[in-house]
Amino acid sequence: MRRLLSYIRANLLLAWKIQTYLVTDSMPEIPELEAIAQRLTEAFSGKTIRGLSVHNHLVIHGTTVERFEGLPTGKVFQSFDADGKFIIAGMSDSLQIVINPMLTGRFRISTRPRKPLKSDVLSVSTDGPTLWYDDRKFMSRVYLVSGGDYKQVAGFIGRGPSALDPELTLESFRTHIRSFHGQTKNVIQNQRFVKGIGNAYADEILLYAGILPFRRRGSLDDGEMARLYVAMRNVLGRYRDMLSTRSLIDLGPEKRDFLMIHGKGGGICPLCGGRISEVTANRFKTNYCQNCQR
Ligand SMILES: [Zn+2]
Repeated sequence: MRRLLSYIRANLLLAWKIQTYLVTDSMPEIPELEAIAQRLTEAFSGKTIRGLSVHNHLVIHGTTVERFEGLPTGKVFQSFDADGKFIIAGMSDSLQIVINPMLTGRFRISTRPRKPLKSDVLSVSTDGPTLWYDDRKFMSRVYLVSGGDYKQVAGFIGRGPSALDPELTLESFRTHIRSFHGQTKNVIQNQRFVKGIGNAYADEILLYAGILPFRRRGSLDDGEMARLYVAMRNVLGRYRDMLSTRSLIDLGPEKRDFLMIHGKGGGICPLCGGRISEVTANRFKTNYCQNCQR
């Protein structure tokens, strides 16, 4: 009976999470994640870890809480890196904390001691500031990885190059995209094709490329493929540069006051002055312009 009740509760909770994240939340994508990694590196590189506390074990995957709390103690933070939609905290002795923030995972830096809040998931105290990680919906997935062994990290292995990888040329983009089928928006968001693009920036890229999100990838001609590549690089690169000077607190997806089309259904298209359309598909909102995109 107890097991049944907890099963029902877990399912109700999941249904609630799915329902609520549709409306309000979106994932950080490569422009935010690179800036977040930069801010964290500036604050923690070279700092020795004094202790790590897990405040909510639901987000810890692939290891026990005891091991997760124990192993990093005494290690030195090296750098934080964005890898697609993950943030990787590199420590001495090839130890890494790999975080998939999903929709609501957020990093904070604190220089004064404080008590954990209800949404806090973990905190790492160092000989400098303390790193806090919170997630009010507890959907994040956090792993401890040793020696670069990412087998346990869901959705990590088998991904494509970063959408901003300097080695991803138009030629390799064109060759690589041929193995992906379906709607163009889904293809550019598929991490197995390129890493780091999610729902919001996909809409921005497609507006600049002049391609409708629902167009089948197979229907794109050579010119459209080139426009898609250029738009991907320009849009992500420009937003990345713009965000690179923001403070951590202004890097949440809720602070995207600069987007041109995503989240602006019913508003005015900045390119043509027409009305921005909106559809909800696969539980996510898509915005596009019927004049500018074909
Ligand atoms: Zn337009």
